[in-house]
Amino acid sequence: MNNDDLASLLFPHVHLTLEELEEKYPPRDLPEGAKATRFPPSPTGFMHLGNLFTAFVDILAARSSGGLCFLRIEDTDKKREVEDGVSAIINGFAAFGLSFQEGVTGFGTEKGLYAPYTQSERAEVYQAMAKRLVQNGQAYPCFCSEEELSAMRDEQERAGAQVKGYFGPWAKCRELTYEEIEQKVNAGQSWVLRLRSGGDENKRIVLDDLIKGKIEMPENTMDVVLLKADGIPTYHFAHACDDHFMRVTTVIRGDEWLASVSVHIALFKACGFKLPKYAHVAPVMKEDAGGKRKLSKRKDPEAAVSYFAKEGYPAESVLDYLMTLINSNFEDWRRANPRADRFEFPFSFKKMSQSGALFDLVKLCDVSKNVISLMTADEVYSGASEWAREYDPELYNILTADPGFAKAVFSIERGGDKPRKDIAKWSEVRDYAAYLYDALYTPNIALPENINPDGAAAILKAYLDAYDASDDKDTWFQKIKDLCGPLGYTPNVKEYKQSPEKFKGHIGDVSSVIRIAATSRRNTPDLHAIMALLGKDRVRERINAALSCLTANN
Ligand code: GLU
Repeated sequence: MNNDDLASLLFPHVHLTLEELEEKYPPRDLPEGAKATRFPPSPTGFMHLGNLFTAFVDILAARSSGGLCFLRIEDTDKKREVEDGVSAIINGFAAFGLSFQEGVTGFGTEKGLYAPYTQSERAEVYQAMAKRLVQNGQAYPCFCSEEELSAMRDEQERAGAQVKGYFGPWAKCRELTYEEIEQKVNAGQSWVLRLRSGGDENKRIVLDDLIKGKIEMPENTMDVVLLKADGIPTYHFAHACDDHFMRVTTVIRGDEWLASVSVHIALFKACGFKLPKYAHVAPVMKEDAGGKRKLSKRKDPEAAVSYFAKEGYPAESVLDYLMTLINSNFEDWRRANPRADRFEFPFSFKKMSQSGALFDLVKLCDVSKNVISLMTADEVYSGASEWAREYDPELYNILTADPGFAKAVFSIERGGDKPRKDIAKWSEVRDYAAYLYDALYTPNIALPENINPDGAAAILKAYLDAYDASDDKDTWFQKIKDLCGPLGYTPNVKEYKQSPEKFKGHIGDVSSVIRIAATSRRNTPDLHAIMALLGKDRVRERINAALSCLTANN
């Protein structure tokens, strides 16, 4: 058969050629070793943590090599697409301060020379390549209906065929003559385009994966579908055409695609394209019943990227945590470089987990506490109030009613060598600051076990007599020490430990009672600073209220 005739029959309106495409999309002018990567999501409206994870690897690999990463929208599956899916992706990344140097930038907008970056707009590229493959005898139309294909599978089952699928002797439409094809086409029968595989199942190929290392597999023998009946490319064909003409050097994607690599190698070869490097990323895992499983959209709320914003984890925390999942040595690096830009970290594919890093919310909280502890009070104020605006309007009103006060609250024990690490997420701010705001404060005078209400009342009375809001921290603390002796406590914890029988308790107990009376908390940051913020009237009021509660209970 004359392949040119067949190509013209199947693609009468396609005139664009491979050579023209090569010229239109020339190789990128990148420095030696620089990687061009891509993140190609489908606009399904749901952003899985795994998507963010892989995209972050894409961006890291590009940035750490002096290359670039672009965003491509893979919208060939119209059934899965949602209306504002593209905006959801762009906004999802923007919320993490992540952006792409090239590609789709919003709904209907894009930048870069390798446009269009949306697959549904790249039909002419796929059609041109499909036509070329037909001209070269490497692709052919298949008219088999669903029923015929399923009958074929049944027959393969019956015959006990080791390999099942559309290939070799089973590939009926391979043998159609030009006349048969022409007749079917003219009769309006629908067809898909298949690869005419030249693979040999006895030959093995080796993939040198950047993450998984060397992987051996048999050559592809399947006549896989390249174009579906509606002319839309399959993932396989679009992957070859797009990653070639968009000049991607390094394909980073989920390891569920590993099983298709032999098809991809065959396709790149058939098209005459240079194979990119591959890095297959293992899924993010979760510990469950002593084992490990994939993070599940159905079972784990944290599988949705939106979860982190709702809970109030700062984007910086999530990114730093993802870094530790990507390369576990990031943690040491972060310790040595607490304030450095994370993109300065020497990212390495080799240090990525081959079986899947374990996602752990407790660890995320630890990382986040570190991140928040290094923020300025202004940053904490804006992070917390921005979160509250959306998720806790009452807190938002309280914080923004007096920004100066809120910032002073967040300044307590912040900025020094050893900042406190109390807050892991903005949703904890309500509880963290509750005792500093009357609107959020619920008195709760729960004494330590070793102190009875009379003893506590005595401490509070003595404290009220001594309390002077204008005392500096040292004077204030000295006064508390001075209270100890007359009340039967010692200011010296060591002394108490040596002879506990001689005392009712030590200075820790005395300050505990004062702390509880003023804040209803056993643990708080610097009490002197807290009292200064509460102001003398409120301090006296609260201590008096605590006193009445203690004496009333007696
Ligand atoms: N659109 C594909 C997906 O979302 C992209 C896979 C790839 O990175 O090649 O799974």
